[in-house]
Amino acid sequence: VIAIRELAKQFGDQVVLSGINLDLAQGDVKVLMGSSGSGKSTLLRCLNRLVEPTSGSIQFQSKEILGPNVDVRQLRKQIGFVFQQFALYSHLTVLENVTLALRKLEGIGLKQANEKALHELAQFDMVPHQSKYPSQLSGGQKQRVAIARALAMDPAVLLLDEPTSALDPVMSRDVGELINRLHHNGITMICVTHDLGLASTISDRVLFLDKGIIRADERLDVLASNHSDPELQAFFGKRE
Ligand code: ATP
Ligand code: MG
Repeated sequence: VIAIRELAKQFGDQVVLSGINLDLAQGDVKVLMGSSGSGKSTLLRCLNRLVEPTSGSIQFQSKEILGPNVDVRQLRKQIGFVFQQFALYSHLTVLENVTLALRKLEGIGLKQANEKALHELAQFDMVPHQSKYPSQLSGGQKQRVAIARALAMDPAVLLLDEPTSALDPVMSRDVGELINRLHHNGITMICVTHDLGLASTISDRVLFLDKGIIRADERLDVLASNHSDPELQAFFGKRE
């Protein structure tokens, strides 16, 4: 569903991405790892045009998504994004957070949007919390709402940027299992994480980003035990 070719991004003089090539097939789940500042968030953001790449091409469902004539709102409906800090609207309830995009972007009526939202919230055991505001939820609950909100749009692809970094270990495992359930439903995903536990729960393959390119696309156990590459050794070695 996604084909990235020679994608590059510079912020001023700083080269962040320099030659990214990546193919994702329907149902692929990839974990994206790499040291802090290696460009993981930037790469995800290029995929739904929150960041404009300097050059290169990204095809989504065989159509180029970079360039001036692309309907970015339409694109963001199909490529869902879950942020590290949840990014829920604090003045809206759980239910309203999930229905907002359905109503605004999809133009669905209130009753139908509520039905759809409750269906998604039910998957994450959040129906009892539907009338609460984000400040009344735990971090794990907020993250579940953020994921439910993204899924309510029925995206073809879901991008997750460190979905467990703000959570304690128990909640991280919870959210990990939930993401894993999505995997079994066949959604295509890229998930950025530093959490090896999460990585091993959700994915078959790990992409390792370093100095602007994808240095490895491997099984996690292979990566973690590959001591021939000094960068990989430095990254995975210090975690043992
Ligand atoms: P982390 O693991 O800490 O989240 P990351 O791999 O997600 O790191 P990015 O957020 O993609 O890293 O940032 C990559 C580099 O690009 C960093 O050096 C950062 O300072 C720079 N950068 C990111 N966004 C911008 C921006 N809007 N303007 C200028 N520089 C930016
Ligand atoms: Mg980041």
